[in-house]
Amino acid sequence: MDSQEFRHWSRKAADWGVDYREGLGERPVRAGGRPGDIARQIGLSAPESGDSMETIFADFERIVPDGLTHWQHPRFFAYFPANAAPVSVVAEHLVSAIAAQCMLWQTSPAATEMETRVVDWLRQALGLPEGFAGVIQDSASTATLAAVLVMREKALAWKGNREGLAAQPTVRVYASREVHTSVDRAIWIAGIGEENLVRIPTKGPRNGMDPQALAAAIEADLAAGRLPAGIVACTGGTSIGACDPIGAVAAIARRYGLHLHVDAAWAGSAMICPEFRPLWEGIEAADSVVFNPHKWLGANFDCSVQFLRNPGDQVRTLAIHPEYLKTHGHDGLVNYSEWSVPLGRRFRALKLWFLLRYHGLEGLRDVIRNHVAWSTELAERLATEPDFEIASAPVLSLFSFRHRGGEDPDAHNIALVNAINDDGRIYLTQTRVDGRIAIRFQAGSFAMTRDDARMAFEVITEIARRQKPNFS
Ligand SMILES: *Cc1c(COP(=O)(O)O)cnc(C)c1O
Repeated sequence: MDSQEFRHWSRKAADWGVDYREGLGERPVRAGGRPGDIARQIGLSAPESGDSMETIFADFERIVPDGLTHWQHPRFFAYFPANAAPVSVVAEHLVSAIAAQCMLWQTSPAATEMETRVVDWLRQALGLPEGFAGVIQDSASTATLAAVLVMREKALAWKGNREGLAAQPTVRVYASREVHTSVDRAIWIAGIGEENLVRIPTKGPRNGMDPQALAAAIEADLAAGRLPAGIVACTGGTSIGACDPIGAVAAIARRYGLHLHVDAAWAGSAMICPEFRPLWEGIEAADSVVFNPHKWLGANFDCSVQFLRNPGDQVRTLAIHPEYLKTHGHDGLVNYSEWSVPLGRRFRALKLWFLLRYHGLEGLRDVIRNHVAWSTELAERLATEPDFEIASAPVLSLFSFRHRGGEDPDAHNIALVNAINDDGRIYLTQTRVDGRIAIRFQAGSFAMTRDDARMAFEVITEIARRQKPNFS
């Protein structure tokens, strides 16, 4: 592609993106269609000779948009958000044009040095103390994997990577059932084994792990000759926003010398607002904290920030060169690929730099506070409706509810959420609360307004009151 064509189609793509965003509110949020609808329109083999860009672009417009679930839609209330604020998209255009591999300082000093700065901006913005250094990972799953590998290696006196696990004592890791499935997978991949992920019961209004039960589980493992290695705690669990009591858990981690990783992938963004920080009170004692600016803060996927109290432990676990030949930390050269599982790294700091400078922290706090307020308003309205009940109280902008009715309440609420999503004006997902199906609602789209929350109330109540059993 020559420069002239590159320029033309880059502009065309940028224009397309703006038009797409402008028209989102008119589209059904969730993709319609049936499995295979898209695949049928794509050739079975790559073409032998090239196509014209006109044809390729026309096919893109014809085939792709109808096969999308629109994550930037103002009424995307499912899962958690995956915002890509327009300013972050602009930065991402530049990143993709530059296409640098940023694994070492010398492979792009701008990427490394900007990363160090903007991650420290975020440390300050979240109210984390000095002394935490940070790194941008591709996803929270990867950050959690890195943290679990570190806890394993620390507990095994750094022998796991070298000798394998066969001759080692049984490594144990502790977490509640409210943590994300990325923890299970990290445990699998680290060779620790699902049976050695010890589930600690939860209690209280925040569904946090019970510190006494945690201490008892660790004592029992020690008595049985097993090797307690670490704890994975959550602030804002995926299902209902569970928050472990970080301060109490950290005290136990310290008492037994365990590595503490806190997964705040979603809720961490809200910590730019000081009033929400009680949810992770005690966080300064964690060894590792991950949160995803690519969820609620507005940075394009992928952008997951991991803060580390002692990056040396992670570098010692993951660096492929001997530690004694390296410099790392605040003062010397930083090669961020030594802090993470993948070697190659995108220039992810640029979108954070654009985002934080354009909106300012105050602008981003406004967005998050609005989401929390609008979600809470909706929960309050639904709570006053006689045929609805709140299944889990709001944590930040997340709550869940049920509609009463039907002989089988689970099937009834599944049918309701399906009918709501088929309607297309809003998009919700379900979860289980105390073993029973509940419908989840989270407000988090940068494009959302208070009217969108009002429309959510209208759609939910209107469809719930249609003829049973299937609301159609
Ligand atoms: C979304 C989420 C994850 C997974 O995040 P990825 O960046 O997609 O790996 C992990 N933990 C929690 C609590 C989450 O909400």
